[in-house]
Amino acid sequence: MSITEIGWIGTGVMGFYMCEHLIKAGYHLTIFNRTKSKAEALIGLGAKWVDSPKQVAEASQIICIMVGFPYDVRDVVLNQTNGVLAGCKEGDIICDFTTSTPTLAKNIYEEAKMKGVRTLDCPVSGGDVGAKEARLTIMCGGDKEAFDQMIPLFKIMGKTYNLMGGAGAGQHTKAVNQTIIASTMIGVCEGLLYAQRSGLDPTEVLNAVGGGAAASFSLSVYWPRVVKGDLSPGFFVKHFVKDLTIVCEECDKMGIVLPGVQKAKELYTMLRDEIEGGAEMGTQALIKVLEKINKKE
Ligand code: NAP
Repeated sequence: MSITEIGWIGTGVMGFYMCEHLIKAGYHLTIFNRTKSKAEALIGLGAKWVDSPKQVAEASQIICIMVGFPYDVRDVVLNQTNGVLAGCKEGDIICDFTTSTPTLAKNIYEEAKMKGVRTLDCPVSGGDVGAKEARLTIMCGGDKEAFDQMIPLFKIMGKTYNLMGGAGAGQHTKAVNQTIIASTMIGVCEGLLYAQRSGLDPTEVLNAVGGGAAASFSLSVYWPRVVKGDLSPGFFVKHFVKDLTIVCEECDKMGIVLPGVQKAKELYTMLRDEIEGGAEMGTQALIKVLEKINKKE
């Protein structure tokens, strides 16, 4: 393999676009996803389909992963029969972009090291728009040498990429990101409900305040989606509850309490469990919970 062969596992909302950018940049991609139909368009662009994460690894030197939950990452990487590590060769790099736990990132790093395989935990932020427009923020944990080798790929998918420390540091940084977003999303949806109930035009309110001190990614991207009645993902509610649970678990380990994150976890768990179809909606659907709490008589 003279050219760098890239493997990709997980072609959902985020993975699809990230993978597409690499193919369009001229890389050879070998891909796998649980549901093949979500990879068909990438196969059409020239990606080679194989039937397991292990086969992806066998055909690749750099294996990228963008699946949903930590248990998906564990299975994709560590499954002894069909997992990535079972198919890796010495010198390969496994780069996990999934938002997962710092502990799992460290476990995978240690397991891989025994085979001479390098790993990076590289969760991203920037949403579906950031993935589509190759403007992701990439937060990395692992060894500098592996990070440096990934930079050409990061440049194709992202706007910023930073090595934050050893294995797990990327996931800790993403936990900080989600801590900030937790209260921001509550603020955006509460502001919108206030605007509506006070008789203001929500679009005019966004024009008025969107460039001031209240400006944020969540405000500019998600407010207009709610105004249009678009509650589709974007960023799945089920994934945000997963992220907020990770933050709370890490806080427990550190012996700290973050009331904003706890409140967001409570509200988003209500959305996931008590609003029909809530788990599969986008995070802007929090408006549904606020409407339920503030039902008009
Ligand atoms: P998604 O659309 O659900 O994509 C995940 C993909 O991984 C799905 O296509 C899924 O297959 C596949 N997958 C899961 N387990 C697998 C397995 N064992 N083997 C093979 N494929 C498997 O989710 P997403 O929105 O792209 O998010 C992916 C990750 O990025 C999550 O951890 C999320 O928290 C994080 N993230 C998302 C956003 C966002 O705005 N969407 C932003 C930043 C970070 P199926 O097609 O069968 O479901």
